[in-house]
Amino acid sequence: MSIKLYNTLSKGIEEIKTIRENEVSMYHCGPTVYDYLHIGNMRTYLFSDILRRTFEFSGYKVNQVINITDVGHIVDDADEGEDKIEKSAIKNNKTAKEIANFFIDVFFNDLKKLNIETKKTQFPRATDNIQEQIKMIQKLESEGHAYKISDGVYFDISTFPEYGKLGNIDLKGLQAGHRVVLNEEKRTPYDFALWKFSQADEKRQQEWDSPWGVGFPGWHIECSAMAQKYLGNTFDIHTGGIDHIPSHHNNEIAQSECANHVPLANIWMHGAFLNWKDRKMSKSDGSFITISDLEKNNVSPLSYRYFILQTRYRQPIFFEFSDIQASQTAYYRLKNRIKDILKNNQDVNEENIENKITEIIENDLDTPNLLAYLWELVNTEIINKEIIQKFDSILGLKLLEQDIIPEGVLKLKEERDLARTEKNFTKSDELRNKIQDLGYDVLDNADMSEIVKK
Ligand code: AMP
Ligand code: ZN
Repeated sequence: MSIKLYNTLSKGIEEIKTIRENEVSMYHCGPTVYDYLHIGNMRTYLFSDILRRTFEFSGYKVNQVINITDVGHIVDDADEGEDKIEKSAIKNNKTAKEIANFFIDVFFNDLKKLNIETKKTQFPRATDNIQEQIKMIQKLESEGHAYKISDGVYFDISTFPEYGKLGNIDLKGLQAGHRVVLNEEKRTPYDFALWKFSQADEKRQQEWDSPWGVGFPGWHIECSAMAQKYLGNTFDIHTGGIDHIPSHHNNEIAQSECANHVPLANIWMHGAFLNWKDRKMSKSDGSFITISDLEKNNVSPLSYRYFILQTRYRQPIFFEFSDIQASQTAYYRLKNRIKDILKNNQDVNEENIENKITEIIENDLDTPNLLAYLWELVNTEIINKEIIQKFDSILGLKLLEQDIIPEGVLKLKEERDLARTEKNFTKSDELRNKIQDLGYDVLDNADMSEIVKK
């Protein structure tokens, strides 16, 4: 069998043939660490985790890089405005390093809580790779792809006729849709910064000498330089959220392919958004939900993982607390059922099941179907410990770990939720008492309730 994935570049499903046999190299655009990551960002890293686990399941060695953007990402994603990290440092009265370190720690913690596998993942930081970025800009300049103006060094889009090939970006549309503050010195409005100069009236905390003047790298060159350093000129798979397609990833392609004269990545994959209140959940909105917020509302990170896996990575998700509550109940129920069934020895055809698991997940990471198949086996009681371990090596739901709420308590909770929506408070109080008699407590929040052990 072979892994089939959707490639944004070719706009089709492709059978994957990696550069090296039984080995896959992948680069995932990492977070800009100026604020907490929200559950939308984490959806994108859950997607890359499933990708990694799928390759491992199929016997590949995985070389995986997630970069950390700790400088150079400008507030509106364009080239004019404040650096997100510097701005956050001023706002919080901290140094840029302190801000980055703090949010990197939170990010790593969230990855762990979500059981995202990172044992062999490399996390290079942009500020640790400044010389590599300068070298790449020099190469671009020496080959006529870069030019210097008063506020920085820019990439000249007109020197790369394939610009916009990822996602078939219409440059005229991009130009019209982009809030570019017109910089008269740029050759075309959508030329983008490779290096920006520190301004005379500005005291930046993070700035470096360069052949062009003191300043800092653009956000896009960071990825190109780190990808090259850690994975080589061409690697197998590059991922990010769909918001990266039009500009960030096309810019990475332009820089890397002009500097190295070979394709940057063979497969480009993009995760759809987690939407909230009818739009993309977004850090810059200031109103978002983090993994810790979920925990405060008694939703476990692994229930969130289950919730996300119920949808394929290419489909948008519209987040509602009530949906995640239902997912949490389903997730606990699944673990309960597995625990019960495994008390007895089951006779199962492991090979057939393993083949089916492979077929489902190798079909462009079809996690909803994989969960459905697991449920089918659980409902017909055709599982054993080895089979559950196989499923879990991809799903990562800690299916054999025992923090289980008994089925009877879950049923009472569901009845009580219904009574609450019907505003039948006498009944809901009675049910609460029953739940408490069984050694559990029920916590109510605005739109959800949760069971905890007393
Ligand atoms: P950032 O730190 O903003 O660069 O984002 C980190 C990753 O999260 C990128 O791959 C983004 O594409 C992705 N991302 C941002 N917002 C969302 C969202 N609402 N849903 C899913 N992924 C997102
Ligand atoms: Zn990137």
